[in-house]
Amino acid sequence: MNASFRCPECGQPVEDGLIEMVFEVGDNRVTVSNVPAKVCPNCGQEFVDGYAAENINRLVDRVIEDVDSYAKKMTRPLIIPRQIVITA
Ligand SMILES: [Zn+2]
Repeated sequence: MNASFRCPECGQPVEDGLIEMVFEVGDNRVTVSNVPAKVCPNCGQEFVDGYAAENINRLVDRVIEDVDSYAKKMTRPLIIPRQIVITA
């Protein structure tokens, strides 16, 4: 993506920004903040670079696995929805 990348929704040039991505996996909610992205100032569409998105997905998978294996070691099951926040 370069500076001339335009929003496919409305055709406005997008700007660099940091966004928050939320993943819901089972009972887990994983929020990844400070993700570098292109943001449309007009309609708010967010575009994450494919390579970055792939890395974030992998990171989220790892975190979910770790949390689940930790939860299994607890004598009492976690009954509250889990909220995990990762700052990229
Ligand atoms: Zn737009």
